[in-house]
Amino acid sequence: MHMFCFQCQETSQSQGCTFGGACGKSEEAANFQDLLIFVLKGIALVVKAGAQADRETNAFVFEALYATITNTNFDPDRIRAYVRRGLQLKRGLLAQLAPEHRSALAEPALFDEEDEDALRRKAYLVGVLSTPDVDVRSLRETVTYALKGISAYATHARILGHETLAIGTFVLRALAAVATETSLDRLLELALETGGVVVEVMELLDRANATRFGEPHSCRVPLGVRHRPGILVSGHDLKDIEELLEQTRDSGVDVYTNGEMIAAHYYPRLKSFENLVGNYGGAWWRQDIEFAQFRGPILMTSNCIIPVADSYKERIFTTGVAGYPEVRHLDRLRPNGDKDFSEIIALAKECPPPLPIDSGICLGGFKHGELSEHAPKLLSLVKEGRIKRFVVIGGCDGRDILREYYRLLAEKLPRETIILTAGCAKYPFFKLDLGEIDGIPRVLDAGQCNDCYSLIAFALSLTKTLGLASPNDLPLSVNVAWYDQKAVAVLLALFHLGFKGFRLGPTLPAFLSPKVRQILVERFDVRQIGTADADVKAMLLGL
Ligand code: SF4
Repeated sequence: MHMFCFQCQETSQSQGCTFGGACGKSEEAANFQDLLIFVLKGIALVVKAGAQADRETNAFVFEALYATITNTNFDPDRIRAYVRRGLQLKRGLLAQLAPEHRSALAEPALFDEEDEDALRRKAYLVGVLSTPDVDVRSLRETVTYALKGISAYATHARILGHETLAIGTFVLRALAAVATETSLDRLLELALETGGVVVEVMELLDRANATRFGEPHSCRVPLGVRHRPGILVSGHDLKDIEELLEQTRDSGVDVYTNGEMIAAHYYPRLKSFENLVGNYGGAWWRQDIEFAQFRGPILMTSNCIIPVADSYKERIFTTGVAGYPEVRHLDRLRPNGDKDFSEIIALAKECPPPLPIDSGICLGGFKHGELSEHAPKLLSLVKEGRIKRFVVIGGCDGRDILREYYRLLAEKLPRETIILTAGCAKYPFFKLDLGEIDGIPRVLDAGQCNDCYSLIAFALSLTKTLGLASPNDLPLSVNVAWYDQKAVAVLLALFHLGFKGFRLGPTLPAFLSPKVRQILVERFDVRQIGTADADVKAMLLGL
């Protein structure tokens, strides 16, 4: 069985993974993910024909799309279970239609899911390459990847009790469109519309987090360790860490954050737990080293799990949408509806404390509320010439050697610049001492990748305060470091909002065909990163 996947920055030879994923995804998992997308498009077409999708259907579509994001779920059995559930939902929706409409929609997305061979054959046939025209394929996939990003954020918001039917309705409408639409103009229009929904869903999640965990504020996050057993929590789901903190309270077990889970420290409710100790390690791709050194159990709450090494495979657990073959998955609930983390807590008590890999503190949590509070001071520093430019370096970190650029960029930017960041893109420079300007740190981290919303909200509010026509008139340069499909979603949000002239790297997406790249260059002046020296020089000139 072979596969084709080109959805992330790490894709093989910048073209596509065909014999297993560079990320570690098996051909079986990749093909079942393609089949799952195909089934979701089938659901969307039935809804387009008149069936009513309810909240359960929307929630399923969000979670299933999320499961196909890079480094989220490597387990073919779990993906196959999503396929089966999708087919069940599709049957229910088809039953709502008049018989004459049903037969046309029953195929191609219905087949005998109990027939393993049929399932595998179908899985291989319905993937990305089933769209023959490279430009149509390019835009269809661009929109599909952004829908995955939207679904990730919608899933986290829904878990916190915040959902809107409109976002689910849009995702189904867009899925139906990418299943059938062949006009490049209409697909481009859909991509821009998708960017608008990305802004909406990021705002929804921002509100959901603040409502549940309190208004976030900047704080110092310790990087060292204590001498008690600990559990390391990675991924993005803040409700999981809240429930774990509740269940480990007064248990003698500490909780540490890893990767983008560092954002937990920025919320008063989560920060109030005495046993939330600090952040351990850096970006996702260092797991094999850092998880080995942690020595206690690790909980992966969402995407950013990498192939599990022997050194910690007995200590790692997944929950939520995350999955990995033969890794224990925690989904049992307690009587109060919270997840039951007793198994991981019991294991922690038998493990030695983590080995230190860092010391000191890092500073983060500058979300849009706090950035707005600083706005008058920042603007007067701009007026005095003490701040010459704001530079956004947001998105994802990764293994690519070319990503050295982001550390160099941060180091080479002059002292009169402020770096705004969100997501794991910060890790190459987050722990460097880049100083401050009149008490304001030069690196302002908003949190997780969805907190790019804060950076966008800040830029738009400055634009308004200064009476400018567009955010492109601000002394602001945007540099998006992309890796997975959430970054693709953020990219479409920037297009939707009219940002122009921003840089994208470390490489351009393989799924953008030459013609689509050309369209984006002409309409949005998107540029690939160059060298750090050349880009610093150009950005300071506003180029
Ligand atoms: Fe390859 Fe990325 Fe797809 Fe993994 S997610 S198979 S690395 S393109």
